[in-house]
Amino acid sequence: MTNFLYPGAYVDSAFTIDYKKLWEKGFRGLLFDVDNTLTMHNVEAEKREANFFVHLRKLGFKTVILSNNKKERVEPFAKLLKTPFIHRAHKPLSRAYIKAMKMIGTNVDNTLFVGDQLYTDIVGANIVGLKSILVRPISPKEAFWIKLKRIIEVPVIALYKINHKKNDINF
Ligand SMILES: [Mg+2]
Repeated sequence: MTNFLYPGAYVDSAFTIDYKKLWEKGFRGLLFDVDNTLTMHNVEAEKREANFFVHLRKLGFKTVILSNNKKERVEPFAKLLKTPFIHRAHKPLSRAYIKAMKMIGTNVDNTLFVGDQLYTDIVGANIVGLKSILVRPISPKEAFWIKLKRIIEVPVIALYKINHKKNDINF
């Protein structure tokens, strides 16, 4: 049961993952959540995020942004990062994850999902059979309904930490 809720790895930040190593292990596609994974809620993309995506492309990765947020929020951000995107993705439903892989020509074996919410990002990736990395949310400022979801994330993350080391990626 808990495996269904568990991420493949749990790390401090999407920016400090060793993507070169993941490339060498055969991963080719990266799907990213936006809010609190790559940037704070409603803060415009800045140089750091843009440079980060330049780095990922240089390594050879194909990327898609997969957000439950609205188009007005996701599109300008994706444009700055020069990456395709899916807005109103309805995570954890499978459809957008599958569509995203189709967009970049990758599959469940060579694609990774990176996001900050257990019950949307990670559960959705698990349903599809995608490997996933949970990141610590960038900002503690969140909408009320997201804060409620954080409360129910706590016991799962606590259980996960008993048998898993943080920042340990073993795919
Ligand atoms: Mg998020």
